[in-house]
This record gives sequence, structure tokens and C-alpha cells, in this order.
Amino acid sequence: MLIPVCENADQDEGAYEQKMCYLPKMERLGMSARIRLFLCLLLATGCDEKEEFHPVYEVPAQLDSYVASFIAEASARGFDYKIDNLIIRYDATLSGPVCGQCNEVTKKNNVQKIITINAKLTCWTNDQELEALLFHELGHCFLGRTHLTDLLPNGDPKSIMYPDNNSLYPPCVYAVDNTSSCNKTFKRQYYLDELFNEITPAPDWAKK
Ligand SMILES: [Zn+2]
Repeated sequence: MLIPVCENADQDEGAYEQKMCYLPKMERLGMSARIRLFLCLLLATGCDEKEEFHPVYEVPAQLDSYVASFIAEASARGFDYKIDNLIIRYDATLSGPVCGQCNEVTKKNNVQKIITINAKLTCWTNDQELEALLFHELGHCFLGRTHLTDLLPNGDPKSIMYPDNNSLYPPCVYAVDNTSSCNKTFKRQYYLDELFNEITPAPDWAKK
């Protein structure tokens, strides 16, 4: 029986690809050789993973600030995310009345995440709705969150992960009205808290 072994563990990673060397059975190996074998296999596995995944970051300029805001809001709540594996693209051919899609609902970071935004439908009418749409998709793609259809006591969605509703904290239609009751931007704080922490209690404004 032959066991593949990488020699010259102190050489660069490329050496592992090219070097095919073999040593006899495990029981014939001394302790230092076994340790070397273990380290070598560990390193070789690491090399493989690195070689398989090349993250791509391609986000339209119009949407880049929302991704930065997502990272900043996470950081403000004690969660540090580095997002270098994200492609966001516009696509007018998404099936059905879908405003956005995430290709992989997972927290795993060694996967290329792709968010597709429907450019054909009128999916947002203000910055807050576009933000909620993107944060919902980022919630799927980077927090591994799935849809939640629970409601708050006042009937509002409990989460930004509620499907097909990105009008959760809109401003008034006309900015001049933003001091009046049509301004719901104060709800943003709760929805972002809940996005990063599902056990966030219902806010005072949601009481009946
Ligand atoms: Zn969704």
C-alpha cells in the first residue's frame, strides 16, 4: 500500500500540485514523518478549497452603497461580515411577479452569492423600499434566513424576511409631509434589529 505524501512542506502551495511522491505503509513511518504527513494532508486540503473557489464581487454602482450599509448595520449590532463573493445583476426575465432572488440561502461564505433584481417590475418607489428589498435578499444570501410570515400584534410583518413586501418603513410620498403620520421610517430600526437577531422583541409601535 502506498500513501501519497507531499514533501517539502515549507515550499509554496504550487509544489503540492506538481509533487507526487509516495512513502510505504503508515506503520513504517516514524513520529516526525506522521506529523509531517498529517500537516501535509491538512495543508493540501486547504489548498484544494482555496483553488476551487474564487469569489467575485460585482455590484452595480447604484446598489453598492446598500451593500456597504448592510455591512455597517451588521457591524453596529456586533456582527462583522466581509462580503467579497457577491454578484448583483438586473434581470427583466425573472419568472412571475418576483422582485428579487438569491441563488443560495446559506450562511456559508465559500459560495458565490448571486442576487438578481427584477428591473422590469416597479419593485420600489423610494430608497427605503429598495433597501428593504436588497436587505431581504442579503438576509437570504448571507444570513441564511428563510421567509417568515409571522405578524406583529398590530398586523405588520414581523420581519423584513416577510415575502413580497418591501414597503415596511416607507417615508411619505411627498417629502414635505415627513413630519406627519405617513412617515414610517422610524420602523427601520426594529426591522434591521430583527434581521440580524430573530429574537428581537416586538417594538412599542407594534402594540395593538
Ligand atoms: Zn425572499
